[in-house]
Amino acid sequence: MVERLLVEGAVLDADGPRPGYVLIEGGHVVEIGRPGFAPRYPGARRVRGIVTPAPVNAHTHLGDAVSVREPPRVGLEEVVRPPDGLKFRLLAETSRARKVDAMRRALARMEREGVRGVIDFREEGVDGVAALRAASRRSPLKVVALGRPLARPLDPGEVDALLTEADGIGISSQAEEGAQIRRTLARACRTRGKRYALHASEAVREPVEAYLDPRPDLLVHLTQASPEDLRAVADAHVPVVVCVRSNALWGRANDLARFVEAKVRLLLGTDNVMLHAPSIWRELEFAYVAQRLARRPIDPLVLFRAAFVEPWDWLGLPEQARLGAGGPAVPIVLKLPPEDPAYQVVTRATEHLILRPATPRSERTG
Ligand SMILES: [Zn+2]
Repeated sequence: MVERLLVEGAVLDADGPRPGYVLIEGGHVVEIGRPGFAPRYPGARRVRGIVTPAPVNAHTHLGDAVSVREPPRVGLEEVVRPPDGLKFRLLAETSRARKVDAMRRALARMEREGVRGVIDFREEGVDGVAALRAASRRSPLKVVALGRPLARPLDPGEVDALLTEADGIGISSQAEEGAQIRRTLARACRTRGKRYALHASEAVREPVEAYLDPRPDLLVHLTQASPEDLRAVADAHVPVVVCVRSNALWGRANDLARFVEAKVRLLLGTDNVMLHAPSIWRELEFAYVAQRLARRPIDPLVLFRAAFVEPWDWLGLPEQARLGAGGPAVPIVLKLPPEDPAYQVVTRATEHLILRPATPRSERTG
């Protein structure tokens, strides 16, 4: 028996918020319409709420899921700096099987919370990416693995093998990899049709001309970037993933209003699983409240788009962010009042309010 769900309230997707109803059957949208016009479907369960497409977590380090203890109260650098920061020591001393298992659990949690895509920076070279592939084999999430070659100087054979296994390369920062290495890696990505991404201006401000050369497909953080830096990033059409809880844990506020003013394309990620649960819902709420706390409020629709729309665009799958009858977008139902839908979704959508219409197992894409 296919589950039939009639949701009345609001629809919120790439086309913005609007009142309406959505009929969902077997996890797919079969009809969408204006409020008050929902026909009486026999056997349909009626729910009042908001329907959105599935969100994407645009920045994680899933391998870090091997440790969920309180992080030491030292500087961020001592935890995440390669090659001997705490996380790299933990990764080195943990068996591959345990790492695969930890990543599988993190992916399962995101799946339960409605997430359908993740962009991961995977350490540990070719084998690190292979371990992530093993962990995600049965996951319905689209897992974008950005790997990192281990050998310095670069070993062309390793880079080639890495790009066979990975969707691209995600490096630590421009300061850690010289211009020559960055250019070689970016060129290798271009040649293979893969993505090149890096962290930038997280703890200290870095020169914008350095992290934009070669031009990356994606930047992460820019916590310390100046308004001029952000404008240069926007002019170069490079989207930026912000991870506000991760920044806050180390005492740094990332004022997202500056990104909006500079017209930067924003995505949202939860960063190291060692430091934060990979919950995009918590990230959304924190980002919104932090802006209010700083008396720099931003439109919740900006945050909605950063998790539900921009990442699908970046992935080249914009239709995943637009709900329509017979379309590929996966509908997520939130049992929330339909007034101010973006505000509701951003600040109130804790995981227990999500009703994820079941997709028949055979239709999962993995
Ligand atoms: Zn990161």
